Amino acid sequence: MDTILFITAVEPDGGLSKASLEALGAAKALADGLSASLCAGLVGADVSAAAKACAGVTAIYGVSGAEFADSRYASDAAAIEAICKAANAGMVIGPDSSRMSRVLPGVAQRLGGKIDTHLTGLAARDGKPVVTRWYYRQRMYAELTREQRPWFMTVSPGCFAAYEGAGEAAVTAVDVALPDAARRTTVKAILSPSAGEQTIRPDAAMLLVAGAGWTKKQADGAAHADVAGTLILGFLDKTKASLGSSKSLVDMGGDGQPVLPFLTHLHQVGQTGATPRHKKGLATCCHGEEPHVVGWRFVSERRAVNLDPNCGWARGKADVLYVADAFAVMTKVNELLD
Ligand SMILES: Cc1cc2nc3c(=O)[nH]c(=O)nc-3n(C[C@H](O)[C@H](O)[C@H](O)COP(=O)(O)OP(=O)(O)OC[C@H]3O[C@@H](n4cnc5c(N)ncnc54)[C@H](O)[C@@H]3O)c2cc1C
Repeated sequence: MDTILFITAVEPDGGLSKASLEALGAAKALADGLSASLCAGLVGADVSAAAKACAGVTAIYGVSGAEFADSRYASDAAAIEAICKAANAGMVIGPDSSRMSRVLPGVAQRLGGKIDTHLTGLAARDGKPVVTRWYYRQRMYAELTREQRPWFMTVSPGCFAAYEGAGEAAVTAVDVALPDAARRTTVKAILSPSAGEQTIRPDAAMLLVAGAGWTKKQADGAAHADVAGTLILGFLDKTKASLGSSKSLVDMGGDGQPVLPFLTHLHQVGQTGATPRHKKGLATCCHGEEPHVVGWRFVSERRAVNLDPNCGWARGKADVLYVADAFAVMTKVNELLD
């Protein structure tokens, strides 16, 4: 019988992130489908709180201590390698967080395994694990299986139900003696924008996409990028939605045109941008052309506001198109939200 190991690092508050709980939920469903046993492996300063969220699995292995608090390739790789050996796992499943994405391929290599990343589906079919992965900027997907073990997998957020476990959970401590070479990198500080400034929110229920129309000349012959910025930020503040952008809008800064200062290329959604996984999406002042809309692959409820009744959204790409002035619509929406 294969053993499936869920692996992750605990968050700075000692708990598990939503993406980790989703990866654990995915591992649990696969283990049930394969009648495999499910273990958990946790890395962090103190893994006891996170272990409680894993209650219900067959065994929990933990590498803990101050040296394992921060994301550092050398210590994370040593810890995860030791946990994999202790669990003797045939399959190892983690979230595709930056920390796990950085370290799991290296551990797979050390253990003579293989890895498949950014998986969006795991299934048991005829007693075999089958995984789903999208290719070519989410235009096509493949289903894969492998005989080789250990088989490492990272799963994308927003694709699986989060594991719901709580209770007492015993942790088997795995000792890892770090050589000096594994301690050379130290984290001095973590600089991150405050929650209010951070407008890319992967866990948000809704995505607001801003298109280039926000900065174009309007009916009065003038551009109103400042008003646009206030309306967009006001909406984000009230709804805690995530912000995305069309390529044209983020590119405009480089062309010397009026821009929304809080937008970066990280906001870009589409063929050469991100493929977010929010349930609902609202596109504003964005034309809805295919290279943009291909990034909406996983957004299942779509609405758009555009002055042009013949824009791309009207051609089967949105559930609802409001043919209207987005400045007027978003002003009213913000008023209603107040
Ligand atoms: C290889 C390749 C890759 C690409 N990758 C991407 C990508 O990853 N992401 C991406 O976004 N694009 C991508 N593009 C570009 C894409 O084809 C479009 O050019 C781009 O998405 C257009 O951006 P937009 O809709 O914001 O701007 P525009 O096409 O300029 O549309 C602006 C829209 O705003 C509307 N508008 C103006 N004022 C208002 C108002 N007051 N109220 C309501 N509506 C208003 C207008 O009617 C218009 O429809 C790619 C293109 C290529 C060739």
